[in-house]
Amino acid sequence: MDHFQYRDNRLYAEDVPVEKIAAEVGTPVYIYSHATLMRHFLTFDRAFNQVDHLTCFSVKSNSNLALLSLFSTLGGGMDIVSGGELYRALKSGVPPRRIVYSGVGKTVAEIDLALKTGILMFNIESPQELEMLSQRAQALDVVAPIALRVNPDVDPKTHPYISTGLKMNKFGINIEKSRQEYIRAAKMPGIKVIGVDFHIGSQLTSLEPFMEALVRIRYLISVLRAEGLSIQYLDIGGGLGITYNLEEPPHPDDYAQAIIVGTEDLGVTLIMEPGRVIVGNAGILVTRVLYIKRGEAKNFIIVDAGMNDLIRPSIYNSFHTIRAVDQPESGTMIADVVGPICESGDFFAKDREVPVVSPGQLLSIMSAGAYGFSMSSNYNSRPRAAEVMTHGAEYRVIRERESYDDLTRLETVPNWVE
Ligand SMILES: *Cc1c(COP(=O)(O)O)cnc(C)c1O
Repeated sequence: MDHFQYRDNRLYAEDVPVEKIAAEVGTPVYIYSHATLMRHFLTFDRAFNQVDHLTCFSVKSNSNLALLSLFSTLGGGMDIVSGGELYRALKSGVPPRRIVYSGVGKTVAEIDLALKTGILMFNIESPQELEMLSQRAQALDVVAPIALRVNPDVDPKTHPYISTGLKMNKFGINIEKSRQEYIRAAKMPGIKVIGVDFHIGSQLTSLEPFMEALVRIRYLISVLRAEGLSIQYLDIGGGLGITYNLEEPPHPDDYAQAIIVGTEDLGVTLIMEPGRVIVGNAGILVTRVLYIKRGEAKNFIIVDAGMNDLIRPSIYNSFHTIRAVDQPESGTMIADVVGPICESGDFFAKDREVPVVSPGQLLSIMSAGAYGFSMSSNYNSRPRAAEVMTHGAEYRVIRERESYDDLTRLETVPNWVE
């Protein structure tokens, strides 16, 4: 359930007409609903209430401070993948002991920052990273709490670019080799083994891959405990899918029940790293129609948002529902909805039945709250879009639209080119 609904054929974000925001803030603009964000976070988090758990929001899915602050206030932790995300997480007020740090390429500077901060757990993705962490922890005279990110080699049956738990993926340590690596880690100075971590992919629409991974991970935990290691945390990653179009992903309650049943005898604190399932359907991208180009082979609706604002269709060929903000009564047409960027990959929909709209009208690209703004860029020297959060009948700009000044702010022209 989200709070983007029609009233008298006009699209509202909670109790604010989307048209009002577009008129006052301009387009393209991301709009997030506070009520939806809250509902999604609490639905997910409460589904695990009967067991010890920590819901660490995946910062990379949407890293706006207003969202991070909300989740932190609701008791959430953060799953980070960079020093920049650590900075944001801390700035949002989340206690360091609720932060877990994943990612295959943590730099020395990032490791040092996280060690000084005193985060809950490092999710280690390679033997060399483990050695580096041990070195840095000794140098700073601290102990680094770790889990190994184990690659359980299961097929999440999702898009290849967002599947991460197969042998051929760059993430994690092969489950068969992980026992040896754990034993090595337990003896390393500056390292304290506290957990096991896995994350098999994103936009999963069935429970089977999670369950398959759990079976393998349970076995690993029993082996590790027999070796005398203390495993207090089990980090099951993120990846629960959402409905973009016709997908029917499991409800968080069913996901949680399956996980709880599969882990409750282990005596671990569960860590979850959800991203998309919390924010995906809590945000829309609103764009204005610039031109309609009716061609012999195809019709094009050219809008003022581009792949620099929302790149998911371009790189994953992913489906986003597109709605007219003012529902016209003029029927539908088949068209490609495209942006102004000089790339053929700059599209939001292909051969899609869309309402007949005219220049100046607004379209809403739905389900844009996850991996939307956070993956945006300045390609074609386009200032990044504004972000807005609604709250009942009010709204606030939570990130200003970038200016042309912002585009060149960090650049210098050396005198030898003049
Ligand atoms: C991206 C990512 C997540 C979040 O994935 P979603 O599909 O958005 O839930 C969680 N954990 C790790 C390690 C990730 O890389």
